Amino acid sequence: MQTCKSCLKEIETSATKCSYCQSYQVWYKNPQHYSLIIMLPFLVFMFWNAGLFNKKEFSDFESEFSFNLEKIIDANKPNTILITYKVKNNTRYKWRDISYEIISKHDGELLATNSVSDFSWVIQPNSESFLTVKVPIVSNANEWELKIKDLEVKRY
Ligand SMILES: [Zn+2]
Repeated sequence: MQTCKSCLKEIETSATKCSYCQSYQVWYKNPQHYSLIIMLPFLVFMFWNAGLFNKKEFSDFESEFSFNLEKIIDANKPNTILITYKVKNNTRYKWRDISYEIISKHDGELLATNSVSDFSWVIQPNSESFLTVKVPIVSNANEWELKIKDLEVKRY
């Protein structure tokens, strides 16, 4: 024997429904909850489809990005130049939160990393976007390499 969860009267151990108050003893036996059970796979699919379960890693898409040095100009600040790269995104995702490094090709010296103004930088799927970086003038550094360290997929 078991006790009804609703009215606390003694009922058959195998009973899924109380014979006194008609209340269901297990939530999933209650027809009112059937729709929830039916909906569950759809909810899982929708979350999965929205990419919430499969986070995109930039390292898996690195080869689908390319960049060209577009122009180098003097910055208003002394001993600083502005280098503009054209970044091409060949993926079908929109990316943001760039994290990069500018390396001197001469000796591999790290010359610049992200700046605060890069926060709004976003690149649309299958398109190009310009990225301008402020680089200090260092002797022997006359060739620069842009290295993207990380990007995040923008969902909204
Ligand atoms: Zn009952």
